Amino acid sequence: MIGIFGGSGFYSLMESAKEKMIQTPYGNTSSPVRIGKIAGRDVAFIARHGAKHEYPPHKVPFRANVWAMKELGAECIITTTACGSLKKEIMPGDFIVPDQFFNATRRKDTFYDAETVHISAHEPYCPVLRKILSETAAKNGFRVHPSGTVVVIQGPRFSSRAESAFFRSQGFDIINMTQYPEVVLARELEMCYASVSIVTDYDVGLHSDPSIPPVSTENYLSVFKQNVEKVKKLIVDAVPCVPESRACACKDALDGAKI
Ligand SMILES: [Zn+2]
Repeated sequence: MIGIFGGSGFYSLMESAKEKMIQTPYGNTSSPVRIGKIAGRDVAFIARHGAKHEYPPHKVPFRANVWAMKELGAECIITTTACGSLKKEIMPGDFIVPDQFFNATRRKDTFYDAETVHISAHEPYCPVLRKILSETAAKNGFRVHPSGTVVVIQGPRFSSRAESAFFRSQGFDIINMTQYPEVVLARELEMCYASVSIVTDYDVGLHSDPSIPPVSTENYLSVFKQNVEKVKKLIVDAVPCVPESRACACKDALDGAKI
């Protein structure tokens, strides 16, 4: 089983899908889980922001969503996100597959409140899934950055100029509101996780080009819509490449992590 978090536009991709409500110790998932097949593989899909986009980034039930995937037997989670670029060369319309995050959210980000568990986050995204996503994007002729650091902010507002300048000064590549804590929650349950992000804007703009306006909901949605078919194609082509059995370290994340 491969778990996918993305926009509700993905419903149309799944063959013979059935919907299931999964009860979790962390409440309901953002949407019923749609279980079906993509390219012959078993897939479970959750619309991260809800079927009607009723969950803004700071209200997404991240723990319930990740727990439900584990409950269904998913070993891998692939997600799609939108992001802002903090670097000129990472342009709107490009794809990027981050390999590092910087957490700037204030969210519940562990399943282990009653025992002491220190998982490693030195390589938080699954290297096998990342390679599949970036190679699939490149094969389709999409411009793709195969690595990068995403700073994940709390939202729902966009950044101030000062915040954005700080993130750029740290060398971060892109900015997003949803990849954290999904990435570490998946690791805590020994699932592989990777995300492919479509660049929709330049965050607050570019110092070198004052004609580029700061991000607005209208412009990011418009760029996202223009690219949604590419995102779908990428997922449909990537799913059959996911190995049936895992050789990466993600599956052993809890080895020696519990005290
Ligand atoms: Zn992995």
